[in-house]
Amino acid sequence: MNSTKKELYLQLYDKADKLQKELDFCKWENGKCFRGRSCCSTCLHVTENGCSIKNLVCKLWRCSNIKLDENNINKIKEIFFEAKKLGLPLYARASIDEMLLENFEKTFPYTEAIFDEKIQTPIFFTKENTTN
Ligand code: SF4
Ligand code: SF4
Repeated sequence: MNSTKKELYLQLYDKADKLQKELDFCKWENGKCFRGRSCCSTCLHVTENGCSIKNLVCKLWRCSNIKLDENNINKIKEIFFEAKKLGLPLYARASIDEMLLENFEKTFPYTEAIFDEKIQTPIFFTKENTTN
């Protein structure tokens, strides 16, 4: 069961990764993103070579500096809601192996992501309800 979930998760991650590369919305150049300071900078999984894990929510999330047209937002939503329909864990900043651990939800500091229709991106909160 868990390996199936993992396979499905990684398939959707690959789809999201391909979409992010196609759209190139972070516009990475010389190790710097479009905003100049990456949203990954405080994450435990960031390395000098970028992200060390595969996380679907992180791939679908974007900061408010990035504007996408409706067609591309729909592509992002489609992947997010497909993952939700499949019952896959939708946490940012964790690998699928971590998310499948028995105590993950009890110990992880962030809530599961939801899709915010107003700002058209997945969002999540710390367990104290502070926006990330
Ligand atoms: S989402 Fe925004 S802050 Fe994060 S890497 Fe892309 S441009 Fe930078
Ligand atoms: S897990 Fe998410 S926030 Fe952390 S380094 Fe990877 S992409 Fe960035």
